[in-house]
Amino acid sequence: MQTLPPGSTIGILGGGQLGRMLSVAAAQLGYRCHIYAPDPNSIAAEVSAEFTCAQDDDIESLTRFAESCDVISFEFENVPVDPLHTIAGCAPLHPPIAALDIAQNRVAEKNFARNHGGTTAPFAEVTDRASLEQAITEIGAPAILKTIRMGYDGKGQSRIQPGDDLDEHWDAVGQQPCVAEGFVTFSHEFSVILVRGQDGEVRFWDTPHNVHVDGILAVSTAPAPDAIAAQQDDARALAAKMAESMNYVGVLTCEFFATGDGPVFNEMAPRVHNSGHWSIEGAVTSQFENHIRAICGLPLGDTGLTAKKVEMHNLIGAQAGDWQALLSDGANHLHLYGKGESRPGRKMGHVTKLHF
Ligand code: AMP
Repeated sequence: MQTLPPGSTIGILGGGQLGRMLSVAAAQLGYRCHIYAPDPNSIAAEVSAEFTCAQDDDIESLTRFAESCDVISFEFENVPVDPLHTIAGCAPLHPPIAALDIAQNRVAEKNFARNHGGTTAPFAEVTDRASLEQAITEIGAPAILKTIRMGYDGKGQSRIQPGDDLDEHWDAVGQQPCVAEGFVTFSHEFSVILVRGQDGEVRFWDTPHNVHVDGILAVSTAPAPDAIAAQQDDARALAAKMAESMNYVGVLTCEFFATGDGPVFNEMAPRVHNSGHWSIEGAVTSQFENHIRAICGLPLGDTGLTAKKVEMHNLIGAQAGDWQALLSDGANHLHLYGKGESRPGRKMGHVTKLHF
């Protein structure tokens, strides 16, 4: 275990709301964060000690950044992996690069879950128009076409119904390499959020029930309803096995569908996750604080609930304009991310409510 004392510098690749909330948690424990991101308006930089504004493949800037850090983490799983290998000697990097390699590729991710005993939706790799035809013949419709790389929040996806013109779907995903996934019939969606320490200790938060609208998370509630609780052990066992085999350190999130045949693994995020934002007030130790504790080699904090029930609602696009009305209910915990411009589909903040 490599313990970093408070006062040390934590480097974070990525400058969005996850970096912002990590930075706040780190500051509370006496650490300094150094954000590395290409956007000069990075909202994580506003609350951090240092900021390097540079491209992810700018090796010179990246090296200077890495040399200023005592440990490096990331808040965005699509950071290019190759440049990270060049800075690997400068400071420990948690979670491991292997986790990024897997999470950046939907095919690798599904095979990884299957190799650890998990169930995924039936899928076929699509490399060109002809293989799309073949994949849909094999899997059937309805199906979902997802780009293998760089997809998140329902972006880079196209839903195929029986009889659809496949040309349109192939164009909709930019004619990029994809997976065609069979449509999963599920009763609920949920995520397993765990933290793994440098000594291999694993702790789970309560399992949130997640409701998505238009492919974007809208609401997470914990504890899970019975239908999810019944599948939680299997899902947790899979997530823990995957974490162990990557020698993972930090928070790992795995998203699942609850089906009549048990949990079906959808995807993993090698980072803190939107479905765990409720843990800031709803758990004794938040996902952000425990991520910082894990990567700094500190003892992990208690993940138990602080209330009978916790709900988190995302504020998407114009919904954040309701901030005054939300604050008029004194029980609401409002989080606004400081993003200047509100666009449809953009995560602007969230609100958490505890029920005692
Ligand atoms: P993803 O980007 O893979 O997390 O997909 C976003 C959302 O689309 C999921 O949370 C589900 O609500 C839905 N979805 C994705 N894949 C499937 C699938 N194979 N079957 C049914 N719904 C899906």
